[in-house]
Amino acid sequence: MSDCLFCKIIKGEIPSTKVYEDEKVYAFKDINPIAPVHILIIPKEHISKLEDVNETNSAVISHIFEVAAKIARDMNLTNGYRVVSNCGDDAGQTVFHIHFHLLAGRKLGWEEQ
Ligand code: 5GP
Ligand code: ZN
Repeated sequence: MSDCLFCKIIKGEIPSTKVYEDEKVYAFKDINPIAPVHILIIPKEHISKLEDVNETNSAVISHIFEVAAKIARDMNLTNGYRVVSNCGDDAGQTVFHIHFHLLAGRKLGWEEQ
């Protein structure tokens, strides 16, 4: 989508700090980290939010979890980590290109991301 921030990041029109990339997925550092490790993992295909995941496009979502586990292994996140996707207003979604936050590096409470 031409007016989507994360589609522009994938295309390199907006700079980002890449952590991982393959043909289906892009991962980069969050610009406003809430934990020492805060990475966003996104599909290259534009999907707006979790609600729009269906049997046609869900393969990339399972791939994202494989990528999350690979990043965690590569970064040696042996104390644990969290993967979360905010869907809609109550969850605090601000960018409507589906993304999975990978958070680590400190104790994570529950009433936060
Ligand atoms: P949400 O609130 O939708 O779950 O998460 C959106 C995330 O995108 C936020 O954590 C925010 O810091 C991050 N973000 C917003 N704009 C940019 C940007 O231009 N570059 C990067 N790297 N992260 C961004
Ligand atoms: Zn997009």
